[in-house]
Amino acid sequence: MNKGKRIVIVGAGPAGLVTALGLARQGAQVTVIDREDDILRWPRAMVYLPSTLKVLDEIGLLDKAKSVAAWGHEYNLRFPLTGNIGRLDYHLIEDLTPYSFNLHFGQDVLAEMILEEFLKLPGAEMRWKTSFDTVEQAADCVQVSLHTPNGPRTIEADWLIGTDGARSSVRKDLGVEFEGFTWEDIFMATNVLYDFDKYGYAPSTMVADPDHWCVIAKIDDKQQWRIAYGEDSRLSEETRMARIKERFKHFLPDPDAPLELLAANSYRVHQRSAATYRVGRVFLAGDAAHATNPIGGMGFTSGVQDANTLIKCLGGVINGTLAEDALDWYAYERRRCFLEIANPTAIEFKRRTQERDTAKRMEDEANMFALMADREMSRQAMMSIFNLSGRDYREDWKTTLLVQDQSGQTPALGAHGGVKLEA
Ligand SMILES: Cc1cc2nc3c(=O)[nH]c(=O)nc-3n(C[C@H](O)[C@H](O)[C@H](O)COP(=O)(O)OP(=O)(O)OC[C@H]3O[C@@H](n4cnc5c(N)ncnc54)[C@H](O)[C@@H]3O)c2cc1C
Repeated sequence: MNKGKRIVIVGAGPAGLVTALGLARQGAQVTVIDREDDILRWPRAMVYLPSTLKVLDEIGLLDKAKSVAAWGHEYNLRFPLTGNIGRLDYHLIEDLTPYSFNLHFGQDVLAEMILEEFLKLPGAEMRWKTSFDTVEQAADCVQVSLHTPNGPRTIEADWLIGTDGARSSVRKDLGVEFEGFTWEDIFMATNVLYDFDKYGYAPSTMVADPDHWCVIAKIDDKQQWRIAYGEDSRLSEETRMARIKERFKHFLPDPDAPLELLAANSYRVHQRSAATYRVGRVFLAGDAAHATNPIGGMGFTSGVQDANTLIKCLGGVINGTLAEDALDWYAYERRRCFLEIANPTAIEFKRRTQERDTAKRMEDEANMFALMADREMSRQAMMSIFNLSGRDYREDWKTTLLVQDQSGQTPALGAHGGVKLEA
């Protein structure tokens, strides 16, 4: 009965689960598998930028998200060199979008929220402790080999979606290269209880400093915050963990005020993209398709947009409203958005946050203040996050949009004036 609509999704992270919910809502029979035994709880993304809120709205989760999240209306960039603080206020774009704010909550809470809705739908299935092994493709189906608690199993489906993170087994099995590079520095993600509100910290704050740069972001309304910062990769993991509180002294407005360290993780960061996001009946999305350093939230935010485009393109194909060509569009447009928007933006966020050259730091500060002084430019900068959503599919894209892109006529940052969020 569901022939043509059977979809297996590998990975119950945000990209996989948003895709699962959107496709199941369109009548697909969706099985999600994940090698873990439950939702991953360690500290990861927690800032939902306006473009992500639009997707949450489209899949019917925005009201629920609003009810559990902390709200953020301001982005701050702190310049310790001068003590100045750059500020962008999202109220400035209230007349341009209904999503003129950020929400803050852990991606594990999003996963819970989605699973609750997803599992109510007919044909929706979540299989934990189940790992992807290999996939074989035929003209009209895929055979997916899995490791399950009951031994190896093979399931047949019409489509397979690899949302299994940056080390994606699906991508590796397809033999698709993960082009790009890995940064030298190690990133630390720590969750703390600390009253940053009391010291006037915006819910999204970056501190630009070559040695003690950090990102400070609200996780909830109960004074749980993320402090993310860099560590030397030559230090042992034990040393990195042992000196967390010592490092905190550089980031806290009052190092003697009460603080509780709730969780800590270290990880390598990359700027990489899969050479293609589609091989026949198999798609890559989220970190499986691209990886970026998290300063600015480009990875999580892009993954949610991949999911939304796949929901529209694959949903249209399985329901007969779009030709299979829409699947090539998915692969093309999402890769373009990563390479032309997310990747350079994230590299620039990282550069500016970690900049060593004093003259450049002063220039960054001057640029930020020039942006703040220009209301229209500030509005464009805040709206530019919607460029990550990409363009809608059109049947003639190969003779229009593709030609335009190849001739360099498409501004990399699209419709909002080519201004990046960070000035
Ligand atoms: C420590 C840390 C902190 C981060 N902080 C931020 C941040 O502050 N801001 C930000 O924007 N981003 C942050 N990120 C990045 C963000 O978490 C990712 O971009 C996001 O999780 C990607 O979502 P995803 O669904 O593509 O993949 P993931 O969330 O990685 O999910 C992949 C899923 O696939 C499963 N899986 C993997 N292999 C298999 C297999 N073979 N078979 C079955 N299942 C499999 C995994 O168990 C996992 O559940 C952080 C990442 C890390 C690691």
